[in-house]
Order: sequence, then structure tokens, then C-alpha cells
Amino acid sequence: MLKITFLGTVSGIPTKDRNHSAIIFEYFSDIKSTLLFDCGEGTQKQLMMSGISFMDVDNIFISHWHADHFAGLIPLIQTMNMEKRKKELTIYGPEAERFVADIIDLGYFGLRFPINAVNVPFEGDEITKIMDSEEFEVLSIPTLHTVPSVAYCFKEKDRWGIDLDKMKDLGLKRGSWLEKLKKQGEAEYRGKKIKLSDIANRKDGLKVVYTGDTKPCETVVKISKDSDMLIHDGTFLELDESQGKYHADVAEAAKIAKKADVKELILTHLSRRYNRDDVKEMEERAKKVFPNTKIAHDFMKVELKK
Ligand SMILES: [Zn+2]
Repeated sequence: MLKITFLGTVSGIPTKDRNHSAIIFEYFSDIKSTLLFDCGEGTQKQLMMSGISFMDVDNIFISHWHADHFAGLIPLIQTMNMEKRKKELTIYGPEAERFVADIIDLGYFGLRFPINAVNVPFEGDEITKIMDSEEFEVLSIPTLHTVPSVAYCFKEKDRWGIDLDKMKDLGLKRGSWLEKLKKQGEAEYRGKKIKLSDIANRKDGLKVVYTGDTKPCETVVKISKDSDMLIHDGTFLELDESQGKYHADVAEAAKIAKKADVKELILTHLSRRYNRDDVKEMEERAKKVFPNTKIAHDFMKVELKK
């Protein structure tokens, strides 16, 4: 099960109700994994208010190095240090090695735990696997913003469920050979070669994409194809030239969701200029293009399960 909590949902300048960008993914399996996507100012306090321990965060994915997406790293690292963290922390992002080194250099941290920085490719249109675990992987692809920027994809690994009826039809009985079959894709049963697809059904893993800041682009369509959820830049109700072209408006983001055949769209990173009524209008406008759309608000939680 994947639980997603929006910790910050505003663009450039925060408001009383909306904090700078940060989204936390809690993935519950045999072990719990906690992944943080972007870390704007105040993220550690937003985590506390959500009842999620910042000490559980082992991997942080920065979409791009604008302060509204990373300024929360400095106090978060300091707090982890004062709480006597020993575990390694890994920070991913375009040019992450350079920026993480700069951040650690900023004050007298006296760091007692290792911080590992991983550069994420930000040019071209290829999908890169940047993290791999037993249960899931994280992928990235470059996006279109004013500075190097990427989108991230959380992808739960596909699973095979043994179909007992199919086993019965083929006259097969349970045994240790089934473990081998699950691991290697095929195994021998009383001298007969059995393939996993003969007796099992594939269950696609969950797929969720977070774009960070971007104007609508094909790379986002590519990485979010058929995903369960797309979390897209929805900065503007309607974009005009004067507002800069490197964000999306809600209808444009909805078009990307439609093109990528995603199941659900959540728009975030709203400009502070919009009041409650405007936000309603944003949702309505997006829904005309892609009906299953929600507008994120701080502390909004979504649960996904397959
Ligand atoms: Zn931003």
C-alpha cells in the first residue's frame, strides 16, 4: 500500500494555508519505505504535523534546485543530526553532487551521518532508473523548466500470483519447485518444464509520477503512460505569456494526463494568487479535459493499493 501526503502545495511564495513543495510517499510492505519528493522550506514541521517521522526518510528526490523545492533540506539535515541520526541519507537530483556539497558547506553542521548525492540526468528524453529496491524502483526523466529539472516515477514491481485452478488443470501440486518458478520464471516439475505464465497471473505494480515544475512536455507523457496517478504542476488557472512559460495551467496538465492514459490526476504547486473560489474553478476547468482530477491542498492524503 502506498500512502501519499502532500506537505506543501504552493508555487514561489507561500501562503498561510499552503507551504512550499514537498510530497511524502510511505510504502508499506514487509518493511516500510519513506520517500520524500522535494523539500521546500518548513518541510520538517509539515512532517511533524502529519505525524510522519522525518527520521524514517532515507531518500530525498529533488526535482530542481529552486529554493521553494529544496530550502527545507538545510534545517531537516540539521535536525536529523541533532537527533543523532547514524543512517545514510541519499539525495537525488539534477547536479545533486554539487548542490548537496554546497549545502553541507553552508554552516558548521558537524555531520555525524553520511549523505550520499546522486546526479540525475536532466538532458534528453530517456527514462533512467535511479533507485532499485526489492519491492519498487524510482525512475526519472528530464522535464522543461527554466533550470535543469526532472520528473520522478515511483514504480512498484510487478508481481505474479499463482492461479490454483490453472495448477489443478495441469495436474500440478505445490512444492518447493514453486519458489524456484517464482524466482527464475521457469522450473521443472516431475521432468516437465513449467513457465510462470502457465500457472500465474501478472499483477501490475502501482505507478505514480511527480513532475515537479514544468511546462507540459512529451517526456512527462512518456514516463507517466498508464500510471495510477500523475501529480502535475498546476500553477495557473490560465497561462498567459506574461506569467512565464515554464509552468503548466490546469487544462494543459489535464491534456497530458489524458494523453498518457493515467487513472487519476492531482494538480499541485498552485500560485498564491488563487483563492478558494478560484481553486474550484481550476478543478472544474481541468475536469472538462480529464474528469478524474483533484487539486491538492496541504496535508491531503491519498492511498493507493492494488
Ligand atoms: Zn516551484
